[in-house]
Amino acid sequence: MDVLIVEDDDAMAGALTAAVESAGHHAQRLSRGADALLSHRNFQVILLDLGLPDMDGLDVLRKLRQVTDVPILILTARDDERSVVLGLRSGADDYLVKPVKLVELLARIEAVTRRAGRAGGVPQEDIIVLEDVAVDLNRRTAAKGGAPLPLTATEFELLALLARHAGSVVTREQILDALWGDAFLASSRSLDVHLTGLRAKLQKPGFIINVRGVGYRVEASGA
Ligand code: CA
Repeated sequence: MDVLIVEDDDAMAGALTAAVESAGHHAQRLSRGADALLSHRNFQVILLDLGLPDMDGLDVLRKLRQVTDVPILILTARDDERSVVLGLRSGADDYLVKPVKLVELLARIEAVTRRAGRAGGVPQEDIIVLEDVAVDLNRRTAAKGGAPLPLTATEFELLALLARHAGSVVTREQILDALWGDAFLASSRSLDVHLTGLRAKLQKPGFIINVRGVGYRVEASGA
């Protein structure tokens, strides 16, 4: 796999390149956002630093998203929650907090490219299967082990949203936006209520994982 690393810091770029190449991938490093916009076509995944010398990384991300569906992982400084949320809402597939852990980097790259591979070439999936849970997006029903789950409309929307993004984080704001249309008017408390209801009906501890301070993630095994 060809991995584009957009990172202006030489030490960080060197570490990322070594990590990516240790997994058998080919890495190319660019320091400037403008160069990334010119050469993104040659790569299957992009690691994008948000603090670049010539452009805001979020602007690079938005421009890339206008022209390509290539998986993009943003690299962000610790505790920069606002950038994470903005990045995910601007079309990033996932994010990594610096300093980046090798194992985590490779796992995230694998997850986003696997998802992209599933989406590409095949028509929009109608039924998402995650372990013993099946989510039928057309009929708007869900089942566990073949038995229908008695979900409310909102619980179904919540499960479908998390399932569509299985393997990566969906932020609370993304959930609020998708389900209620306006993150700022929606009640965060009501999300907690629906989430609790959904979890009670699923009876699958560890299936929907809290990512503290950011959002939620469904693990993608078995898909
Ligand atoms: Ca930087």
